[in-house]
Amino acid sequence: MPNIDFTHDPAAKSWVASADGHKDFPIQNLPLGIFSPPDGEPRGGVAIGDEILDIAAVANLLEGDARKAALLAGQPMLNDLLDEGNAMLRALRHGLFSLLTDPAKEAEVRPALHTAAQCTMHLPVKINDYTDFYTGIHHATNVGKLFRPDNPLLPNYKYVPIGYHGRSSSIRLSGVDVVRPNGQTKAPDADMPSFGPCKRLDYELEMAIWVGRGNTLGKPIAISEASRHIAGISILNDWSARDIQAWEYQPLGPFLAKNFHSSISPWIVTMDALAPYRVAQPARPEGDPSPLPYLLDDADQQKGALGVTMEVHIRTARMREAGEEPHRLSSGSMTAMYWTIAQLVAHHSSNGCNLQPGDLLGTGTLSGANDDSKGSLLELSNGGKQPLTLPGGETRTFLEDGDEIIITAFAEAGGFARIGFGECRVMILPAP
Ligand code: MN
Repeated sequence: MPNIDFTHDPAAKSWVASADGHKDFPIQNLPLGIFSPPDGEPRGGVAIGDEILDIAAVANLLEGDARKAALLAGQPMLNDLLDEGNAMLRALRHGLFSLLTDPAKEAEVRPALHTAAQCTMHLPVKINDYTDFYTGIHHATNVGKLFRPDNPLLPNYKYVPIGYHGRSSSIRLSGVDVVRPNGQTKAPDADMPSFGPCKRLDYELEMAIWVGRGNTLGKPIAISEASRHIAGISILNDWSARDIQAWEYQPLGPFLAKNFHSSISPWIVTMDALAPYRVAQPARPEGDPSPLPYLLDDADQQKGALGVTMEVHIRTARMREAGEEPHRLSSGSMTAMYWTIAQLVAHHSSNGCNLQPGDLLGTGTLSGANDDSKGSLLELSNGGKQPLTLPGGETRTFLEDGDEIIITAFAEAGGFARIGFGECRVMILPAP
């Protein structure tokens, strides 16, 4: 598991002035992404304050593994870099930290910096496979209650990290509008299903876990090794068509209700950057079973959870026209995960399934125990039965065309700098 080192020193400062106290990208973060400068091709970059450093452009100022990693980051996708494993990412982090904190390097490094607002971001990796889990126990309980008030969690939930295979071809970056899907639905009182625009479009507040080095088919990743295979984390909004889902999902599970679009934030916050914010996995409630041995590791239980806070905001078309600020719908924590991210990797590969660099694992919707931490409108509106009233008087049960959903996230811990994930901001367009 990554250790705390000089790159986490809260007193460290970059000569990039905007990084000082930056809410997301101070020198302690150094997240990885793919950007193109105004007149250039896509390439690997690191966010630093309001700027982006072209990593490959400073490779000649680095040595050893840091240099090798920087050259790999010159490609238009980061899969090859992630495949090198976390030790290589750490060498790159250490090298870039030194360049960006040493005033003597400023003259040589500055030409490789680009103003972020003038750059275009791209998907950071070629996403070969996307798996969505269901680790948010409060979400699973809230949703289960809508269908089974007395017995919300199915008997497997506390033994198996529940998941399904999603679709990677429709994953898009923050800023790409989502088109309301058409689909087949059947109202409870209707005799026949009909086809048309989704009437219960929802967001899901999740985080995206990026697989680093993969495993060979047939060779599971042990729980004690799993954290070595996780490169970093981003924000994920797993758009969901609740009415389509309700009609189609039995008996094989989610299909067209989930695969029309998923949105991610552009920056991969590395596991090294997250080292100071690791916390103990919350104790299971009294009476819950212990994880089976292949999912249980002492170090993972002691430090395998993440002190990451997420927030969801909405801005309707009316609010945008009136110049009003987005309204916060909820705030939640990654500690709502019933399983650690290492347990997800160990379970996913436990049957021999091979994970590949750049695979995306969704945490599942992360709701907290309280009403102000419910991570979807399905929960906030109690299954569509209790509309929410927004500050301007508009109401919502589910999302309307023109609504914009903005998810942000950050990590905080006493004695360390705050680092952030940037944002995942997406607007809804009408069905075709
Ligand atoms: Mn989901």
